[in-house]
Amino acid sequence: MNAEIIAVGSELLLGQIANTNAQFLSGRLAEIGIDVYRHRVIGDNADRLEEEITEAEKRSDIVILTGGLGPTKDDLTKETVAKYLGRKLVMDEPSLKAIEEFFIKAGREMSVNNRKQAIVIEGSTVFFNRHGMAPGMFIKTESTCFVLLPGPPREMKPMFLEDVTPVLLNELGAGQPVVSRVLRFFGIGEAELETRIEDLIDTQKNPTIAPLASDGEVTLRLSAKHAVEGEAWQLIEDTEQLILARVGQHLYGINEETLVNKAAELLQRESKTIAAAESLTAGLFASELGAIAGVSSVLKGGVVCYTNESKRDVIGVPQSILDTEGAVSERCAIEMAERIKQQFNANIGISFTGVAGPNSLEGHPPGTVWIGLSIDDYPSTALMLSLRGERNYARIRAVKHGLFQLIR
Ligand code: ATP
Ligand code: MG
Repeated sequence: MNAEIIAVGSELLLGQIANTNAQFLSGRLAEIGIDVYRHRVIGDNADRLEEEITEAEKRSDIVILTGGLGPTKDDLTKETVAKYLGRKLVMDEPSLKAIEEFFIKAGREMSVNNRKQAIVIEGSTVFFNRHGMAPGMFIKTESTCFVLLPGPPREMKPMFLEDVTPVLLNELGAGQPVVSRVLRFFGIGEAELETRIEDLIDTQKNPTIAPLASDGEVTLRLSAKHAVEGEAWQLIEDTEQLILARVGQHLYGINEETLVNKAAELLQRESKTIAAAESLTAGLFASELGAIAGVSSVLKGGVVCYTNESKRDVIGVPQSILDTEGAVSERCAIEMAERIKQQFNANIGISFTGVAGPNSLEGHPPGTVWIGLSIDDYPSTALMLSLRGERNYARIRAVKHGLFQLIR
């Protein structure tokens, strides 16, 4: 099953709004195992829209149109689709009643144009709009399913999730839902991860495996269809085991879990307190942790020690280390971690020091980062990273590496 999304609206072409509807729909379609092959944007023009629909019907199983269902003259999606399919437009009584009631309640005069909003394509499955006026539609031709949705995201999203998804799932697998699980990885690039499981990605049909990379993290979405009731979860489980046997050391979470949530959860579960000495990240690490509810039981505090002077005077890093090894060094990172742990009387001290860029520092190129970690009485460790990208990207990545160090 493949789909394409046609967003209708001249404001999209003029650059006045971004096509977030397509972004949302693509994400949700992937979750139910429908491949999206194309995003199209077309202005409020009947001829060009008809051209687009004609092509779309030839090549796609599912065509989702958003926008242009409203009351004004430039809203012409349903008129164009009706004309193309050779179907009549008819009044949808429940929608008309709701629109009439809305105007009575608001004490406003209802215009002829508003009646137009309740008109639907004959023979379509109509989705009542609980968050606006124009109803959505589902129409099946011999080769293609057409879905028409209102443009405003706050109307479109609930309609898609609550009304359209069940209909599409029904089309997909005789009423058997597709289930999916997201595996979240860190510390491994997308290309590397894909290479290690390439054969699985290529041969797996049920579940399908879909990789996605963003912000230094890689996710794999496993989506399976039931052949027998309940079987899909077992299929996902089996494939997950195959994947984890190869790249399991990089797994940090499942579904909606985040690095910072997992780290906070672990600290809380083990009753370990933490303090941070942050140069490169200038408080970003503490700030991330601080966003988690209940973290006050484990986050003792931190110090932003951006200059060498503050590393020496506030944290207590010996001047001799700064002179001989420099601030961007393993020794400095470890000193910072150990001393912040002591100062805050915490179980764990973590430190970040490095070169955000754009200029080099102490002869180290931008992206050179040391993360120091001192846990209770264990020997301290430090991790060196060479991060690419502009300065804020490096800082965010460094924080994520720090959080991942805690989880491991
Ligand atoms: P209305 O009844 O509000 O006129 P409509 O179905 O006719 O709804 P449009 O007129 O095409 O939809 O768009 C209405 C508004 O919805 C736009 O001004 C914009 O704010 C938002 N919108 C439309 N299409 C998109 C899209 N593809 N992505 C994000 N927002 C969109
Ligand atoms: Mg409109």
